[in-house]
Amino acid sequence: MASSRPVDRWIVLKFGGTSVSRRHRWNTIGDLAGKRAEEIGGRALVVVSALSGVTNELTAIAEGAADSAARVDALVTRHGAFLEELELGQEVLAERLAALRGLLQDPRAAGRPLDWQAEVLAQGELLSSTLGAAYLRSRGLDVGWMDARHWLQALPPSPNQSAWSQRLSVNCQGQGGEDFGSRFDAQPTRLLVTQGFIARHGDGGTAILGRGGSDTSAAYFGALLGARGVEIWTDVPGMFSANPKDVPDARLLTRLDYYEAQEIATTGAKVLHPRAIKPCRDAGVPMAIRDTGRPDMPGTRIDGSAEPVPGVKAISRRNGIVLVSMEGIGMWQQVGFLADVFALFKQHGLSVDLIGSAETNVTVSLDPSENLVSTDVLAALSADLAQVCKVKVIVPCAAITLVGRGMRSLLYKLSDVWATFGRERVHMISQSSNDLNLTFVIDEADADGLLPILHGELIDSGAMPVYDAQVFGPRWREIIGSVRPRATPWWRAPAARSRLLALAAQGTPAYAYDLATVRERARQLKAVAAIDRYFYAIKANPHPHILRALAEEGFGLECVSQGELERVFAAVPGIDPAQVLFTPSFAPIDEYRAALARGVNLTVDNVELLQHWPEVFRGRALWLRIDLGHGDGHHRKVNTGGKEAKFGLSAQRVEEFLEQARALDIRIGGIHAHLGSGVENSGHWQQMVDELAGFARRIGSVEVLDIGGGLPVPYSDDDEPFDLDAWGRGLAAVKAVHPAFQLAIEPGRFLVAECGVLLAHATQVVEKDGARRVGLDAGMNALLRPALYDAWHDIANLSRLDQACDADVGVVGPICESSDVFAQRVKLPRATAPGDVMLVADAGAYGFSMASTYNLRALPREEVLP
Ligand code: ADP
Ligand code: ASP
Ligand code: MG
Repeated sequence: MASSRPVDRWIVLKFGGTSVSRRHRWNTIGDLAGKRAEEIGGRALVVVSALSGVTNELTAIAEGAADSAARVDALVTRHGAFLEELELGQEVLAERLAALRGLLQDPRAAGRPLDWQAEVLAQGELLSSTLGAAYLRSRGLDVGWMDARHWLQALPPSPNQSAWSQRLSVNCQGQGGEDFGSRFDAQPTRLLVTQGFIARHGDGGTAILGRGGSDTSAAYFGALLGARGVEIWTDVPGMFSANPKDVPDARLLTRLDYYEAQEIATTGAKVLHPRAIKPCRDAGVPMAIRDTGRPDMPGTRIDGSAEPVPGVKAISRRNGIVLVSMEGIGMWQQVGFLADVFALFKQHGLSVDLIGSAETNVTVSLDPSENLVSTDVLAALSADLAQVCKVKVIVPCAAITLVGRGMRSLLYKLSDVWATFGRERVHMISQSSNDLNLTFVIDEADADGLLPILHGELIDSGAMPVYDAQVFGPRWREIIGSVRPRATPWWRAPAARSRLLALAAQGTPAYAYDLATVRERARQLKAVAAIDRYFYAIKANPHPHILRALAEEGFGLECVSQGELERVFAAVPGIDPAQVLFTPSFAPIDEYRAALARGVNLTVDNVELLQHWPEVFRGRALWLRIDLGHGDGHHRKVNTGGKEAKFGLSAQRVEEFLEQARALDIRIGGIHAHLGSGVENSGHWQQMVDELAGFARRIGSVEVLDIGGGLPVPYSDDDEPFDLDAWGRGLAAVKAVHPAFQLAIEPGRFLVAECGVLLAHATQVVEKDGARRVGLDAGMNALLRPALYDAWHDIANLSRLDQACDADVGVVGPICESSDVFAQRVKLPRATAPGDVMLVADAGAYGFSMASTYNLRALPREEVLP
């Protein structure tokens, strides 16, 4: 039977803990192994992990947990139950479970020597492989079982290797003897199941490849067999640009070379064990990471032929990092100091990861996945180091690493990333000499919540080239189906499109506003029960029709200048002044006078106003704008909170303000904060209500808490619509804590951004050094946001809306200014030509209101669609 098969082709499939813990997964394993063997015209070796969570239990037992007996009982029960789920008899695991119990009776159990610990740890994989092979056989597959320890041999200890790593974190022989292949080929079955994680120790006992080491077992087998491939099957469809469980926006990395994959794995992406890559790389065996629950997804391919793409590919985090800071007197450059210090690390069997040095200090990091960094080991090391220098151990730290090719040439794009780290206490920054990584070490607690922020900054700055489809695939949240897609924009409807084309024929650039969209957004907001008072920040778009529509929907109007006030009273004659807010910043005093004369609600934000012009404010009712000391927003230039921001009374000066106000008989009826625009974190407003309520109680007379605006809109396919329901629920919850106050909001963008489009004609289409550019007759003079904030606006060719968008082009304006660029990479029909009508979407907010006549180009026209 064996002789009729081609026996020299192997493929290795490794299945992790979650992939082997359920019956339907084992059906998938059987199907996949059979299919792969067939595809290569050969055989498949299946390497398995222990059932999920089992190695954690075994580790606790190996480390002498007091309740070890109970833990063993629970493991016996769990495996028994799984046999039942698989409809297998209990005898399948009887011997193995007895061996597990036996280890607790073993005389070595008292002293817990490392060889005994290795045997304990090995039981998880021995159990899972045994039951898996039995199950596949019960389904009629041609499956054999083998003990991995007969095949994988731990390398003899290297000099200075600690006893711990010689037994529990070993490396193996990656090259087989002459007969490895033939012995393997002599196995009679088409499919073979074996264990990950374990190998034969030089003394004949068991050795362990380290936590997560089943990946490495598969890689060794792949290398030893010269396999067609090694596939790591797990619970995510590949390696991502960040841990997808922490960063839902993380992108699948579809293609990586061995070196980048190595760096991502080494710096914390648990999906692949860092030691798994070298054996495959040396043997030229391609690797793939795949998802057992989504076997149709292509996953990540790692091989030697991936074209290098510059840019940050991933950001990862390692926890439990230990920093050892060594302070000496005049030691740097002192002959032999470093040699003395590192000799001590060597003596304690510790391998050093990162190194930072200064005139009188050397700091190194120890990675717990490579070292046993127990308190005992650290105490012994510190005692020895104390002989040569002053030692400080800083734990626990987190190392956050950006990985990608050409890190040094990307530094100029990382200003936001540096700024984010600048807000934390950074212990160490290290840039690898292979130019593949940049690492920041901070306190572990400070790292929580940081990765999604940094990941977003890497994309926004262009440092992570997510538009490159050779490397970047879909986002995790798309894969798991938790994306709330944007609604189809109004201008795509055939009737709207014809009207817009007709408008464009009358001349461009022109803004067109769809009032139905404005009313729809207004009604969505009015449905949020926790809000009592609504204002529209007219600076976003003060077009009279929009003001009237929103006033009709029950919105008050918020102004920041006398010009805006005049616009409001002209556009909405008869508006109740109490429905008008005036919130100026550093405006001339006459504007305050005029506003008070009109009887509108005035908000002030500093003490100096009252000190300088007491008579203007005496006896008035005012609102007060407070700076809560922190800001947020889609871009640094729209962040309006914190020390750097010019807005708001410093929280430090509230008492001083109140004293002055009392002296002038001023009554503070409302307090206001607005910390930024385009804020995506809905917890932001809850926190604001909480903080404002604290101030309101101190002031006493406050009835209204005005939490500003800042609600975001989805400008690109990558953005999700703001979750108004979640926002409303959050506000209702925090309002229940502070029921004494009314809540007011004053959004601008949210109400009007999506109602507006900017129409332009294409002027010229030009190729230059491989780049294709479409010019428009509208530029930064008509829409400033891209140039000012790097803002994204979708752009469509309205004349060719039905054609495929098959070209990547830059879209630019006619202004003599290098920042006159709408976007560098827009997908447009290749046939886009001069004279086509182009549409810039979501331009209803801060479009016309920020337009200028720069270069003496005329202001765009404005048209309203009813
Ligand atoms: P297995 O049990 O299959 O070996 P692991 O838990 O060891 O699985 O590895 C898979 C996990 O790795 C994923 O569930 C994911 O949370 C985590 N992970 C961390 N970083 C990354 C990353 N950059 N890409 C993908 N997964 C990652
Ligand atoms: N079962 C081992 C662990 O959990 C090895 C592995 O799953 O890769 O660490
Ligand atoms: Mg793993």
